[in-house]
Amino acid sequence: MINTLLIANRGEIACRVMRTAKSLGLRSVAVYSAADSHARHVREADMAVALGGAKPAESYLNGAAVIAAAKATGAQAIHPGYGFLSENAGFARACEAAGLIFVGPPVAAIEAMGSKSAAKALMEPAGVPLVPGYHGEAQDIDTFRAEAERIGYPVLLKAAAGGGGKGMKVVEQPAHLAEALASAQREAQAAFGDSRMLVEKYLLKPRHVEIQVFADQHGNAVYLHERDCSIQRRHQKVVEEAPAPGLSAELRQAMGEAAVRAAQAIGYVGAGTVEFLLDTRGDFFFMEMNTRLQVEHPVTELITGQDLVAWQLAVAQGEPLPLSQEQIPLNGHAMEVRLYAEDCDGGFLPATGTLSLYREPALQSGWRIDSGISEGDSVSVFYDPMLAKLIAWGADREQARLRLLSLLSEMQVGGVTTNLAFLQRTLAHPAFAAAELDTGFIERHHSALL
Ligand code: ADP
Repeated sequence: MINTLLIANRGEIACRVMRTAKSLGLRSVAVYSAADSHARHVREADMAVALGGAKPAESYLNGAAVIAAAKATGAQAIHPGYGFLSENAGFARACEAAGLIFVGPPVAAIEAMGSKSAAKALMEPAGVPLVPGYHGEAQDIDTFRAEAERIGYPVLLKAAAGGGGKGMKVVEQPAHLAEALASAQREAQAAFGDSRMLVEKYLLKPRHVEIQVFADQHGNAVYLHERDCSIQRRHQKVVEEAPAPGLSAELRQAMGEAAVRAAQAIGYVGAGTVEFLLDTRGDFFFMEMNTRLQVEHPVTELITGQDLVAWQLAVAQGEPLPLSQEQIPLNGHAMEVRLYAEDCDGGFLPATGTLSLYREPALQSGWRIDSGISEGDSVSVFYDPMLAKLIAWGADREQARLRLLSLLSEMQVGGVTTNLAFLQRTLAHPAFAAAELDTGFIERHHSALL
């Protein structure tokens, strides 16, 4: 049914999706902004269409231009990657109206999970455990004060429309609530055009463990195990691994089944990720569901031997899931780090410049590199500063960790400041090697990592 696929994205994920499209014999269409006319995703595509200016709003977020490009090139389907239009219900609806397949979940499922508050309200009756909290309509300070008292401090304020850690504030004591609420609301309004907040118990030393789920159009749904993404800075993932170290088979199954219930409760189809916090007692709580392919999907691919983009394309064409729950393998261990153009010493601010040196080593056993850049590219202020994902598989966690360290040591990057040394110190840290993982890891070991 699909013979031409338009990829509405740039960088590594555009190249990643194209790789599978090629392996399936599909023609791939790239789209690009004025800043990206020589980019790798454009060179690697069979066809490429210019969208407009360098600013995302003029190019990668311009849904009408993307749909016009699909029509002009005879594409039957659009893969949105992650970010940009990938969780935009209006865009998914416009694809449908234009007779194009949106490679993602149904519009209703995107909408259901678009608000963290609404999502939590849907999860409760589905028997998915929630972090104790308040996610109601009332937004006045008196309600928040009473709810925070009920939950118990410290609490975490979160933007209902939030993402990327924006609009989140930890409040340690009642005296700070009013000011924190006002400031989080302002931040949420500026970032998402929506100031609605929810409040949750702020868990101490939790792990971020998320479940990869997949559902088809015939009512089948499975989980492809979990990823541990506890190594974060400012609530953003830095290292991801699968499986989660130390998770018992029973807990893995319980979390997997809860994630599948979450997906089924909203009529989910396609690839999705259900994010949980796991506390020190082994209890887990739903945070949110991401209705797209995740940045960190490669670690799941390496332990299951599956191509998740191929699964997405199969499901989008109405095919049943390739495997049943019992058939999904879990083999060895995989670890991924995100190579960012950023200045770790200067507060992790994005770095820009020209990549005067960029050499990836020839791949060795267990190594995988997902990148979308080349030497000489410029790293601009317009887009996410992730340069590449460096990934390793091993028979066990320690082999994966050592292989990833050796891959990092052979990367040659110059001209732009990156977090390469920071990543190496993180992976080499004895506490990381001992799998002492929780979301406070980087803050706790800060001085040893910089
Ligand atoms: P976003 O959508 O902005 O990324 P999330 O809700 O996914 O926000 O949370 C991002 C991260 O923030 C989590 O991975 C975790 O580290 C931290 N976090 C979120 N909720 C809580 C909580 N209730 N207690 C402690 N940490 C939390």
